[in-house]
Amino acid sequence: MAVAAPLLGALARARGRVEPGAPFAEFIWFRCGGRAEMLFQPADIADLASVLARLPAEVPVFAVGVGSNLIVRDGGVPGLSVRLPKAFAGVTVEGEIVRAGGAAPGIAVAHAARDAGLSGLEFLRGIPGTAGGAVAMNAGAYGREVADILVDATLVLRDGGVETWEAARFGFAYRHAGVPEGAVIVEARFRGVPGERGRIAAEMERIAAEREASQPLRQRTGGSTFKNPPGPRRAWELVDAAGCRGLRIGHAQVSDKHANFLLNLGGATAAEIEALGEEVRARVLATTGVALEWEIRRVGVPQCG
Ligand SMILES: Cc1cc2nc3c(=O)[nH]c(=O)nc-3n(C[C@H](O)[C@H](O)[C@H](O)COP(=O)(O)OP(=O)(O)OC[C@H]3O[C@@H](n4cnc5c(N)ncnc54)[C@H](O)[C@@H]3O)c2cc1C
Repeated sequence: MAVAAPLLGALARARGRVEPGAPFAEFIWFRCGGRAEMLFQPADIADLASVLARLPAEVPVFAVGVGSNLIVRDGGVPGLSVRLPKAFAGVTVEGEIVRAGGAAPGIAVAHAARDAGLSGLEFLRGIPGTAGGAVAMNAGAYGREVADILVDATLVLRDGGVETWEAARFGFAYRHAGVPEGAVIVEARFRGVPGERGRIAAEMERIAAEREASQPLRQRTGGSTFKNPPGPRRAWELVDAAGCRGLRIGHAQVSDKHANFLLNLGGATAAEIEALGEEVRARVLATTGVALEWEIRRVGVPQCG
């Protein structure tokens, strides 16, 4: 993918790391898919804001975390992809507030809350994404979600403006947050509730063990593929009812361990994974009448030719 001139111009004075044609497969969970036309790891918030302010409005901007809920199509992602580096991964606690950089892993946020004797954030222990990704997805588990604990989040908007939004402004719904197009969440503040450290730690251990037993944690996957639809049956039950557990297309497979997870068995293309997901949706619709909705975000363009 040739890099467009406006991108190069906007990045001319960037202080962070700039990588044309960076392969997403090197770091996203599925370990496959295309390249970023340009991957930018900003040095700090001011660096990101100034690059976005210089970037012509028609150039798309895509924020990526660790790609734990993501298919990047094989033709790659045009425009600027922003990946927050370690400088954005700090976590601090002030009273009952846990402040996390946009790149902070969910587990680090949960550990900081535990160490400070704050409960309510335990569920983040089981979510392998970043704090920014958790806000963008309204990630949740065990009856709790980010909307329940978020105080506010700071965004660098597509035009380079920096704003802090109170939680209510995101209009959270199930696995949905109203993050403006092209915005990057650079910080989030979560509220915990004073609790007993031993109990918080025990709950986190329970979550870790439960995950280990039920999810393909050490495989190339993208987390829950489909949202749980309204009604009594969860997505995985519908996938099972349609006989799709273990179903394969090429090197992509529906996990035997958890039917709502897709796997790259090694060498799968993003097209194979997406086609498998669509095949599952079609079979579930035909068998149960339920139209499953993708939870995994699919980005980029298909491979041409
Ligand atoms: C084994 C496994 C278990 C999982 N369990 C759960 C679970 O229990 N509950 C749950 O909700 N999810 C779960 N997931 C899915 C995933 O971990 C969450 O959706 C997570 O919040 C995604 O974070 P990420 O940083 O990987 O985002 P990515 O996958 O990189 O991106 C997902 C979306 O978030 C956006 N995004 C990411 N970072 C930013 C940012 N800084 N600013 C703006 N937008 C951003 C991206 O543009 C994209 O639209 C699981 C995944 C795996 C692999």
